[in-house]
Amino acid sequence: MSHDLDPPVAGPGLRELVDRLRVDPDDGFRLADRATEDDFGMTKDEALARLAASRSRIDVLQQRLHAEGERSVLFVIQAMDAAGKDGTIRNVLSGLNPAGIRVESFKAPAGPEAQHDYLWRVHQVCPPRGGITAFNRSHYEDVLVVRVKGFVPEQVWRRRYGHLRQFEQLLTDEGTTVVKVFLHVSADEQARRFQERLDDPEKRWKFRRGDLDDRALWTEFQAAYEDAIRETSTAECPWYVVPADGNSRRNMAVAEILRHTLEQLDPRIPEPEEGLEGIRIV
Ligand code: ADP
Repeated sequence: MSHDLDPPVAGPGLRELVDRLRVDPDDGFRLADRATEDDFGMTKDEALARLAASRSRIDVLQQRLHAEGERSVLFVIQAMDAAGKDGTIRNVLSGLNPAGIRVESFKAPAGPEAQHDYLWRVHQVCPPRGGITAFNRSHYEDVLVVRVKGFVPEQVWRRRYGHLRQFEQLLTDEGTTVVKVFLHVSADEQARRFQERLDDPEKRWKFRRGDLDDRALWTEFQAAYEDAIRETSTAECPWYVVPADGNSRRNMAVAEILRHTLEQLDPRIPEPEEGLEGIRIV
């Protein structure tokens, strides 16, 4: 079965697009080699049309996944501040049946979260059978901000790569497909977006002074992302690096990654009871 859109739309085919963005294991991944901007050979309007088409298809596949009720999808989204995590989630998942979709956000652990191992809070909110859960930040914070800010010694965060691979393998073995997306924004574009937030009274609330502390550690964060992605992108639980300097192409590409994941799962609606086709409701 072809996984490409019918009728064809502008830009690369689905498989070509996701192949371009995926990080294959053992390919000597370097974040600096990946673009923060890519128009994928599409105008903005073409990207928006493709996003809409992709969302419609995700809607159909999500309903099938729900009807099948056996497997689930965990869609992890990570990024530097202002790369567009919230906007991507809103644009890609809007219009889907809320009954089958959840979004979980992760802040600095507090209360009982801080009293347990770092995966405790994560495992509880992984998707149920038939569901899709998007993580806005995730268990990867425990090898990113935790590493960069020195919250734990190196030997502690370094051994977590192994935990993360094994945790995701467990989820995979038990029926959850794990897909991870890094929204790759440039330092210049982040500066522009921070300034826009500060200048717009409607958006100013999004800005925290601490955002500038993280920005000052840009190089350290990029190194932490590079290592995390290289260490945990596996054939079954891949990372995708999505250019995030342009919103419409970013949203389109993320939607296509989710669609591709669902196309590959190919969820099957259950067989109806026999003999239903003859029934006439009076
Ligand atoms: P967001 O930036 O995601 O929109 P916030 O501004 O509330 O939301 O930021 C959440 C903060 O929580 C981030 O600074 C992130 O680094 C932090 N955080 C998330 N998970 C952890 C963790 N496991 N350990 C420490 N800090 C974390």
